[in-house]
Amino acid sequence: TQIMATKIESKASAVGLLAAYDTFLFDCDGVLWLGDHLLPHVIETLELLRSLKKKVIFVTNNSTKSRRQYTAKFAKFGLNVTEEEIFGSAYASAVYLSTIVALPKDRKVWVLGQSGIEDELHQLGYETLGGSDPELDREFNSESPLLNVDPNVGAVVAGLDIKVNYYRLAATLQYLRDPKVEFVATNIDSTYPQKGRVLPGAGSIVESAACASGRQPVACGKPSQGMMAAIKAIHQFDPSKAIMVGDRLNTDMKFGRDGGLATLLVLTGIETKEGLDSLAPNLKPTFYAEKLGDLYLHSK
Ligand code: PLP
Ligand code: CA
Repeated sequence: TQIMATKIESKASAVGLLAAYDTFLFDCDGVLWLGDHLLPHVIETLELLRSLKKKVIFVTNNSTKSRRQYTAKFAKFGLNVTEEEIFGSAYASAVYLSTIVALPKDRKVWVLGQSGIEDELHQLGYETLGGSDPELDREFNSESPLLNVDPNVGAVVAGLDIKVNYYRLAATLQYLRDPKVEFVATNIDSTYPQKGRVLPGAGSIVESAACASGRQPVACGKPSQGMMAAIKAIHQFDPSKAIMVGDRLNTDMKFGRDGGLATLLVLTGIETKEGLDSLAPNLKPTFYAEKLGDLYLHSK
């Protein structure tokens, strides 16, 4: 707990931060890029971290893309990252099931969501049902047969599904009625920003399944520590030497703080200096910067 967040605005503050941490977790939109444009000096900052041999992990709540699909987004901005450096909520959900629940690989997973979730589950060796299966696109009425419930399904993973319909929700409920079937949410964000619009997030779909079943899922996105547990299952790092960089207080900064990491808030996304100033001391980030690139600019 501290009274003030330290601003990255001098050589001492930038070099001090760089020396104190060996693992950097990054939120993406609002930190590295904003919508379609890369933020200033992000390339140089990431190159600086690499030259200092820091471990970098990009943490996103976006469940619609697998790590494989997300690397294309980085490449579009000229950012070189490997699949191993990306940690999305679809992957976190798959890691959670395989490592923490230790769901045997001969159990299947029912997916209420898109291909990113299916892709990550398949890569970890699980067979999936539901998801992008076109069979689920049909309309539902009182005469509709419900699907045959497969007794080999051991878990439901729910995330953003832009094709959500009543049939998908009805099918998902048939699995969740069995309390032995694990219920995992990729993330429970109420909304997300897209091209200047605000759209219903994964949480709005997960809530439908939670309401119908009377169950609460384990959430694998920021700020849930389910995400942190999944990251730690794959990457070894010392939390006291790690820092979470983000643009949002109630997801990124809470995620880092609850995990025992230092935090760096950048003001290129959601939050403002006024919002930061009005925070209770125990909720202040460790550091803040006008933009991520200041870390590079002030380190020289
Ligand atoms: N969910 C979806 C579907 C998104 O597209 C996004 C951002 O693009 C998010 C969640 C939030 O992701 P992040 O954690 O990277 O801000
Ligand atoms: Ca963000």
